[in-house]
Amino acid sequence: MALLKVTDLQVYYGVIQAIKGISFEVNAGEVIALIGANGAGKTTILHAITGLVPVKSGSIEFEVPKTGMNDKDIVTETVNLRKTPAHKIVSLGMAHVPEGRRIFSQLTVLENLKMGAYTRNDKEEMEQTLKKVYKRFPRLEERKNQVAGTLSGGEQQMLAMGRALMSHPRIILMDEPSMGLSPILVEEIFDIIKEISKSGTTVLLVEQNAKKALSIANRAYVLETGNIVLEGDAKELMNDESVKKAYLGE
Ligand code: ATP
Repeated sequence: MALLKVTDLQVYYGVIQAIKGISFEVNAGEVIALIGANGAGKTTILHAITGLVPVKSGSIEFEVPKTGMNDKDIVTETVNLRKTPAHKIVSLGMAHVPEGRRIFSQLTVLENLKMGAYTRNDKEEMEQTLKKVYKRFPRLEERKNQVAGTLSGGEQQMLAMGRALMSHPRIILMDEPSMGLSPILVEEIFDIIKEISKSGTTVLLVEQNAKKALSIANRAYVLETGNIVLEGDAKELMNDESVKKAYLGE
């Protein structure tokens, strides 16, 4: 079974149907990209998964390790996220890096990072994770006492990603990480996403920058007005004439 399996998802805003019955899955270890134009419904899908918007119908199944089992036997169970409150979802191993970063701008970098670990009780483990986050983002360590609102856009994106990693997620959902960043920073952020993936965290990436997203993804889904119109291997989609024309500016 996939790590995350979304089946026939429908989401409405009032009478407007934003998501029209889509299905997709994310396997452990994959980088999956959801691409599509502004307003296609990408953000809404992430919000539906993490319980931030109500779902009209469909299922969102997430595979989690079964608790209380012998470490040697890897036993998992499937949790229906539709029945799980948003604050519980983080503790199941899913972190969300929201569009626009949503860092706590009045708090310091370190305080923001600690907020990301609010589901964890073991202080020592938390310190270990913090060390790893600083290793991945040396800039955050340099600026740990700086008020987050004074960071540059790229640094704020790093902070939002670092904060998500503090919960030690098995899957990380990223919404438009490249938004508003210079080309050099976009490169840097995508390199970091690749590293996060290499270190074993599964990634579900929503991006308008289809070219960059497809360059690091294993598979991708193309969304148009609430429907998946195309799906497949990322490299194949990159060479698909309709994708090239509509999304890659070729
Ligand atoms: P963007 O990259 O601009 O966020 P998107 O692909 O993520 O685009 P969504 O933000 O998910 O698209 O929006 C999907 C549709 O739902 C759009 O038509 C949008 O106008 C509508 N929509 C989004 N949020 C709301 C809301 N809170 N109330 C009403 N309609 C909404």
